[in-house]
Amino acid sequence: MIQEFAKKYNLPKFRTLQFDKAFYQNGIESFDQLSTFPADLRERLKAEVEFSTLSVEKELISAHKDTIKILMKRADGQRIEAVLMKHKDGRNTVCVSCMVGCPVNCSFCATGKMGFGGSLSAREIIDQIVYFQRQLVKSGERVSNVVFMGMGEPMLNLEQVQQAIDIITDPDKLALGSRRITISTSGYIPQFKQLVENGFRGRVAISLHAPNQELRAKLMPVAKIYPLDQLLEALDEYTALTNKRVSYEYVMIKNMNDKTEHAYELVKLFSKRLAHINLIPYNPIREVEFERSVRDQINRFRDILTRGGVEATVRVTMGDDVNAACGQLADRENKKNTDKKIRI
Ligand code: SF4
Repeated sequence: MIQEFAKKYNLPKFRTLQFDKAFYQNGIESFDQLSTFPADLRERLKAEVEFSTLSVEKELISAHKDTIKILMKRADGQRIEAVLMKHKDGRNTVCVSCMVGCPVNCSFCATGKMGFGGSLSAREIIDQIVYFQRQLVKSGERVSNVVFMGMGEPMLNLEQVQQAIDIITDPDKLALGSRRITISTSGYIPQFKQLVENGFRGRVAISLHAPNQELRAKLMPVAKIYPLDQLLEALDEYTALTNKRVSYEYVMIKNMNDKTEHAYELVKLFSKRLAHINLIPYNPIREVEFERSVRDQINRFRDILTRGGVEATVRVTMGDDVNAACGQLADRENKKNTDKKIRI
């Protein structure tokens, strides 16, 4: 982040190391706290480098205080969301956005319905993580995991996402092992292969949401370009290379993808694969008439999968009170802002 600044002033390597430690690991709240820098250098840094590219507009804390969702504003006024989940086992997972909205337009998704407002830079992605790192450092904790499962399709912003991963895994910066990173994708195969070729060996979560090509193409336009059989082939290659289990996200939509026959189709697809199916009770949005599957059907569905030899769980919803479907908060705020602009 201060590479250009360091180059401009010909700073020795130890200065960038001091900066990285203070900024990424020690959670300084402003450049004034960069006490390892001499005062004149600190002043120059303050004048030339932004402390954060995002400002926090809203912070919602769940009743159990285990989930914090923040609404962050970019320099251009657009809003994105990031979430911190504090797990009972001590993990502190940050879910980051990589875009404003999303161009993929899956039919059930609040973020997709926002449309696409642009891709985030690596710095903007990292600033979401560093914000929570600062909060955690105060209580002697740290960010332990990062999931790219917020707004946007990471494979369509691969260059910036890759740069962000490099910072997350850099031992002098956020210093997380690659197995602590989860990348989610709706199924952009060439970009996924590129990510793996770049050296990615972290966890992979696939937005599956249907047990066959026909229904998947109905729900997710991306499936028309990259069919399910080809996607599974690419994931089989990843599993063969890494021996890593792939997670499949499956939103449960009433009478759409939650029928008993769908569960049996999933058993056929996954009983011989290293896979985990994450069943997610659907969070209805106003733009479409999809409803959440009833709880009994979700449990029946899960039981068919597990009896058929497929690992499956129903998502434990953390912080339900702040965790409306991903994208809904930013969507509401971005719209409010557009309305305001129109009235003026
Ligand atoms: S589910 Fe993911 S890929 Fe599909 S529209 Fe929503 S954010 Fe984009």
